[in-house]
Amino acid sequence: MKCQFCDHPKTRVLDSRPGKDNNHIRRRRQCSECDGRFTTFERLEENLALVVKRDGRMEPFDRNKMLAGLRRSCTKLPIAEDHLTRIAGLIENRIQESRRRKLRSQVLGDWVAAALQEIHPAAYIRYSMVHRQIHDLQDLQKLLDEELP
Ligand SMILES: [Zn+2]
Repeated sequence: MKCQFCDHPKTRVLDSRPGKDNNHIRRRRQCSECDGRFTTFERLEENLALVVKRDGRMEPFDRNKMLAGLRRSCTKLPIAEDHLTRIAGLIENRIQESRRRKLRSQVLGDWVAAALQEIHPAAYIRYSMVHRQIHDLQDLQKLLDEELP
């Protein structure tokens, strides 16, 4: 999405919510170049990738659902809500820029986990335990060995 002020091709999604008709999505964007902010009203089907779950079922990507998962992973940790909405925006941008119509839920989970890893190790581990299906301490140890220096 081009900046409406300076035509710079990269903008960041600050917030997005469904429009009243449910066929459109309202996005608040900020330009990476001039920091100008503007609102777009985009058609839903042009925008949202389908998330393919492990069992093969598909559902439209849902920013709020992703945010809920982020919040759960960060419960009682000193992480500002701002950080989480920022991560959600980055992931949303990444999906759009990849131009994928379908995205496996594991890939999405890995992107979110990678973003959390930079913020807080405990949030990262909690998220990974849910989304990478870690079932026991052995699996957890494997994750730790793999990710920590
Ligand atoms: Zn701009």
